Amino acid sequence: MGKTFEYAPAPESRNVVDLASSYGLFVGGRFVDPADGTSFKTVNPATEEVLAEVAEAGQADVDAAVAAARRAYDEVWGPMPGRERAKYLFRTARIVQERSRELAVAESLDNGKPIRESRDVDLPLVAAWFFHYAGWADKLEQAGYGPDPQPVGVAGQVIPWNFPLMMLAWKIAPALACGNTVVLKPAETTPLTALLFAEICQQADLPAGVVNILTGAGETGRRLVTHPDIDKVAFTGSTDVGRQIARSLAGTDKRVTLELGGKAANIVFDDAPVDQAVEGIVDGIFFNQGHVCCAGSRLLVQENVHDEVLERLKARMATLRVGDPLDKNTDVGAINSAAQLARIRELSAVGDAEGAERWSAPCALPDHGFWFAPTVFTGVTQAHRIAREEIFGPVLSVLTFRTPAEAVAKANNTPYGLSAGVWTEKGSLILWTAERLRAGVVWANTFNKFDPASPFGGYKESGYGREGGRHGLAGYLR
Ligand code: NAD
Repeated sequence: MGKTFEYAPAPESRNVVDLASSYGLFVGGRFVDPADGTSFKTVNPATEEVLAEVAEAGQADVDAAVAAARRAYDEVWGPMPGRERAKYLFRTARIVQERSRELAVAESLDNGKPIRESRDVDLPLVAAWFFHYAGWADKLEQAGYGPDPQPVGVAGQVIPWNFPLMMLAWKIAPALACGNTVVLKPAETTPLTALLFAEICQQADLPAGVVNILTGAGETGRRLVTHPDIDKVAFTGSTDVGRQIARSLAGTDKRVTLELGGKAANIVFDDAPVDQAVEGIVDGIFFNQGHVCCAGSRLLVQENVHDEVLERLKARMATLRVGDPLDKNTDVGAINSAAQLARIRELSAVGDAEGAERWSAPCALPDHGFWFAPTVFTGVTQAHRIAREEIFGPVLSVLTFRTPAEAVAKANNTPYGLSAGVWTEKGSLILWTAERLRAGVVWANTFNKFDPASPFGGYKESGYGREGGRHGLAGYLR
């Protein structure tokens, strides 16, 4: 270990995606200019190059999009039999597959994630989500939600920047399968794949107004979720914004699901196969630059194997390739924005100040764009902010434990409850631990695995409601 081969660059072609210089809003099946003509730029975080100018939706645009979604719901999509809706969803899934290379490149350009991840993880899951929910559209009576479940109506959906197209699929596929129409707002730093998805809706001949895409920042999101003619709000993002949304909707009859932040424990017992556990730790925190709500950002390692695990972890981290997201050899890409980089730096500096010991992988970082080397903090205690707050970057905090009971107590000592990991060769210890962890998902001897048939969601400040599988239908049926 410790030595890496020099790889020749293996760049994916940027030319497979044809980006327009500017994009309007997608309302009622057409791209339209925003009523007040405002726009913003979206940049490639790896180079800071402007990729496109994107419209910023104001109140009049939100009104128009919600009205279009309402019309489509009343006149076309709501009354349409499930087996007909399924055809559109299957068609959408197939077009996503056909255009997956182009969509993966666009995602990596706008988000900064390595092409290996957008190509091999995000896009296959996006297609899988549409296939899965296409299969449910004509079987809702058998889903366990009563003999004649009905759609909720018009859904306002707001998503974050870490998995832009995947979060879109998690929102739109179940909503449409159940007969709802949607107005979706992508995050302001990653609007492009949602706009390409709008083109796919046109290509699939989806009836006008069933899907509407409004680009814009937090204010656009706020206008959308508080709009009086929205029946259901589905939000994925930070706990702070989730709290604001819950507060602003309290007392209304809107349905709400919130998928929020996390601070997952990845627990390594002393009998775990160390090399596999190290791969799982790396995947848990450095996948997608650590911009993952369920990232294994707190490593809880049994005290007697701490030194061995850390030594092998650092050796493995030294081999991670950080750089050009479009290079097929890249393991860790760019941080999504200057603001996110500032937050990662700030919390890491707090880790230093509070006395934890920082070690970063020795890697050359590009001169332009937003970058942060994979980093591990040892000597972290539960009182440290880096053990309590979500950093949402490639930064791992390491704590130790002696007994299974102590591992569980420390793992649960967090306001969040989204996910956790357990590494041991004993099945009984996996079950004992998993039963006691207050987390929506517990992975055993693996991490960050997603499947459209499997529900995903949180406890406590990680939110409420489940996405994925049969459970994911519940939020979109009444
Ligand atoms: P964010 O909360 O800042 O923004 C999320 C989205 O909400 C963006 O589209 C933003 O424009 C919009 N928004 C901002 N203010 C709003 C308001 N007042 N009303 C309505 N919408 C508003 O979060 P982020 O920085 O984009 O994403 C990172 C966060 O998302 C992390 O905390 C992460 O854990 C969480 N996340 C959770 C899941 C999950 O499934 N639980 C998945 C991915 C990300």
